[in-house]
Amino acid sequence: MEQQLPSQLLIGAHTSAQGGVHNALIEGHSIGATTIQLFTANQKTWKTKVFTSSEIALWEKALEETGMRQVMSHDSYLINLGSPRLEVLEKSKISFRAEIERCHALQIAFLNFHPGAALTSPVEECLETIVESLLEFAPLVNDGPTRLLIECTAGQGSTVGYSLEQLGFLISRLHQKLKIGICVDTCHIFAAGYDISTEEGWNKVLKEFDAKVGLEHLYALHVNDSLKPLGSRVDRHACLGEGFIGIECFKAMMKHPSLVHIPKYLETPEGPPMWEKEIQLLRDFAK
Ligand SMILES: [Zn+2]
Ligand SMILES: [Zn+2]
Repeated sequence: MEQQLPSQLLIGAHTSAQGGVHNALIEGHSIGATTIQLFTANQKTWKTKVFTSSEIALWEKALEETGMRQVMSHDSYLINLGSPRLEVLEKSKISFRAEIERCHALQIAFLNFHPGAALTSPVEECLETIVESLLEFAPLVNDGPTRLLIECTAGQGSTVGYSLEQLGFLISRLHQKLKIGICVDTCHIFAAGYDISTEEGWNKVLKEFDAKVGLEHLYALHVNDSLKPLGSRVDRHACLGEGFIGIECFKAMMKHPSLVHIPKYLETPEGPPMWEKEIQLLRDFAK
């Protein structure tokens, strides 16, 4: 890949779409972001939403003015494409379809989603249900600009997608059928037991990722420190350098040839003023 200046690297945060999705782009621009992640609808309700033409026009104008690239959407927290409960599974599919359609309407590059939770069912059954659910969306996904990204999880509760074996299983079953990939969340993968706190740690984990999933399927990174220790399987984000992962992880990430050019989205807890500092810090690490 061609060399990029640190200022051009795609680094941003999950900004607020309050008052309209275009505001997430504007907020990102104001903190020095070159990309953003956003919710395209209220992430805590089942209600589906469709954009009006004026909302889309505002988005397109803001996109051009801010120059944001590789924008990512995060799906609703309620969606469980691996649910053993039929009623929830059906609702999840309806909502997920609407998520994809909204991403297409905004020409969004990635739709990041949590793979699912097994609840009372065995993990293998949940993974199988996720594959079947996603295959239903193949024609829709392949018809638009948006790639689906499975987010690696911390493995909290009964959520699946916390091991490289599980992510590898999903990718192997899906990647030839629809546009799909992986988003690694640094907090989640660390909480799931993969030690990325040093350059050596990153190298070991990426080697295992390449063997079990394939590095070519890694499209994005959520960049967060972790309030909980390695292998805790608890998903609690911390600001960079203020958690159990520590700042070395992020320095190594910004120097790593396999990671430096991958789009990065902060989901750290303190909001825009801190994100502005963290984005600058990451850019400085790349120098
Ligand atoms: Zn995340
Ligand atoms: Zn998280």
